[in-house]
Amino acid sequence: MSQALTAPQLDELKQRLLARRQELHAQMAQNRANLAPAENTAGSVSQDENARLANQTREVDTRLTALDADELARIDRALEAMDAGDYGLCDACGCAIPFERLKIEPMTQHCVACKSAWEHKKGIARA
Ligand SMILES: [Zn+2]
Repeated sequence: MSQALTAPQLDELKQRLLARRQELHAQMAQNRANLAPAENTAGSVSQDENARLANQTREVDTRLTALDADELARIDRALEAMDAGDYGLCDACGCAIPFERLKIEPMTQHCVACKSAWEHKKGIARA
């Protein structure tokens, strides 16, 4: 009954995940670059100032990239599942998630039915 993904389908999804991961890495690097102090070439900044800026940067960076990091974690999980051979199976009911859905959201771990059920009773994590 469950339609396993074909090798080409898996490969396409993997490429999507890898591309998205690169994009996120670039985005996070860009966030950091934007936050870096403008003139740090002269070395005239005191140590205190350096520490302060570093703290500030880390703080803002953390906020800015929290979502990216979350998405990255989901991508990594999906890639791990691919390696383990159980990618594309719903975490809750074990059904095969349709390729069409995976194409839109390749890092999803739930079929549509389980996801909407889960959204109703948030907090009850998957076993
Ligand atoms: Zn399900």
